[in-house]
Amino acid sequence: MNDVQELQEKINYDKTFDCVQCGYCLPACPTYETMERETHSPRGRINLVKLVAEGKASVEDLQEPIEKCLGCMACTTVCPTNVQYGQILEGAKEVIEDHQVKSTWQRKTEDFLFGSFFPSGKWMGRLGNFTWFYQKSGLQYLVNSLSLTQAAPFHLGQFEQVLPAQPAPKQRARRAKRYIRHRPAAGKVAFFTGCVMDSVFFETNENTIELLLRSGLEVVLPDHQTCCGALHAHSGKVEDSRELAKRNIQAFEEENVDYIVNNAGGCGARLIEYHHLFEEGSSWHERAKRFISKIKDISEVLAGVEGLEFTRPIHRTVTYQPSCHMTNVQGVQSPPLELVKKIPGVTLKELDRPDFCCGSAGIYNIIHYDESLEVLDVKMKDVCGVHPDSIITTNPGCLLQMKLGIEREGANHEMDALHLVDLLLEAEPRVKRA
Ligand code: SF4
Ligand code: SF4
Repeated sequence: MNDVQELQEKINYDKTFDCVQCGYCLPACPTYETMERETHSPRGRINLVKLVAEGKASVEDLQEPIEKCLGCMACTTVCPTNVQYGQILEGAKEVIEDHQVKSTWQRKTEDFLFGSFFPSGKWMGRLGNFTWFYQKSGLQYLVNSLSLTQAAPFHLGQFEQVLPAQPAPKQRARRAKRYIRHRPAAGKVAFFTGCVMDSVFFETNENTIELLLRSGLEVVLPDHQTCCGALHAHSGKVEDSRELAKRNIQAFEEENVDYIVNNAGGCGARLIEYHHLFEEGSSWHERAKRFISKIKDISEVLAGVEGLEFTRPIHRTVTYQPSCHMTNVQGVQSPPLELVKKIPGVTLKELDRPDFCCGSAGIYNIIHYDESLEVLDVKMKDVCGVHPDSIITTNPGCLLQMKLGIEREGANHEMDALHLVDLLLEAEPRVKRA
């Protein structure tokens, strides 16, 4: 295969012909709305990919429009010809990565984050423990009093303000590998804990285990599970993403479970696409297909539990900000809403444009902070029109972004943002036996 053929295959050139340039995707695209440029629309990006594959544009021309894509996949839900934009995007990112058009600092930071940090349970645990120390020791107070957060790189100081309170290290250390409360159990599930969820939102992960137990299920946490690889794929590191997929498939094969449950829309979307990483007909492709057949979001599992009811009324107005990846890639739409509607006392007010991304998009809000805020501001206008007490979401990135949006609106005394799991547990679920 010559260089041109290799580029065309990697960049999914054949898939670009499915786009008939109709433009139906334009109103669905957040970056087209906020940046007002054809090159920053789905149609424009696909065109650029085609031009690069044909040698009429350079990879450098492609880099900025592709990197500014949120990867929210809203375009795929309205496309009449079912263009596989996700695969085109991933191929383009891989080609950008191969052509080394990233700066040295960006490459080194990514190599550390993707190669050593996210896949390591130890590093992620240390991050959680360090944050606990930072919050409890008075260091946070000192840093904030001296306004040192403003000097933090990548606007990390803004995110520091919205991090949830972390549990003490001994609480993390108490985590077991297997939980069972009701015998015989109604079923057995494995919990995919995720890297960011288990580090920054450890309490929500604990609440997830509790919800599954209250639903009568046995819960196992396979030892060798690792990061899902979504952030790697979003950065063009497809080979790393493939290695992580293999590690996860192997780890979860060791347990014979009914479902593999996750509580992060972005992770779930990556897990159900593992088969695309392997050649069709290969043994890894078959193993990936068996693995993905068991993937479920926690809301799907709970919505299917017969007799599940909520016993504690919660008198609050809530709105639901769906995770783009959960909705547009996993296709999980109604279960979170069905569960919220079951809680006595809750008033659910839906957003005008729930499908519009919040601007979080993995680490987009860190790498492209200003562009992400433009998207967030559109979202917050919608949220403020609904006046909720709480914004419910189902993904760690969306949760932090919503908290940031509340902070920016100066509305933190009026509303909060929380994971669906935390709201459901607060409502004291139980299974009514027949
Ligand atoms: S809706 Fe689909 S076919 Fe139409 S321009 Fe967008 S990507 Fe192309
Ligand atoms: S994935 Fe989202 S941001 Fe990217 S082109 Fe599609 S709609 Fe636009």
